[in-house]
Amino acid sequence: MEDTIFSKIIRREIPAEIIYEDDDVLAFLDISPNNPGHTLVIPKDLSTNIFDISQDSWRKVMDVVRMLAPKVREGAGADAINIQMNNGEIAGQLVYHTHVHIIPRIKGDGFKHWAGTPYAQGEMRAVADAIRATL
Ligand code: 5GP
Repeated sequence: MEDTIFSKIIRREIPAEIIYEDDDVLAFLDISPNNPGHTLVIPKDLSTNIFDISQDSWRKVMDVVRMLAPKVREGAGADAINIQMNNGEIAGQLVYHTHVHIIPRIKGDGFKHWAGTPYAQGEMRAVADAIRATL
């Protein structure tokens, strides 16, 4: 796997507003935030996204997400938080180094949830069966 811009941030080759760091995980402000305080949490070891990150690395990232989410909410003066992760091009992933977004939400900020579409008759069971069959 090739380095991305996030490896350069880990190595301090480009600047970032780092808000948390330990041996395995780094958290810094997104350069183009949905709201001020929008934070990215990344593992220091290389993986692309949810599909290839190790269980150990994922746990460490999620522990930091859990620790930081209320701190970001408080520090950014937000009302709520979205936790988001884009995995793959069609899901909107732009940087291919695993990262989880902590997105502060402010009442009236105008962001919308994606629209839900009801299942056709029988489709829900078929999809559930297909997923269960992979386990
Ligand atoms: P993705 O769409 O891959 O889930 O999100 C990548 C995020 O990385 C974007 O929200 C983008 O603004 C952020 N980003 C891209 N390049 C940089 C950078 O050089 N510095 C920082 N701090 N954030 C970046």
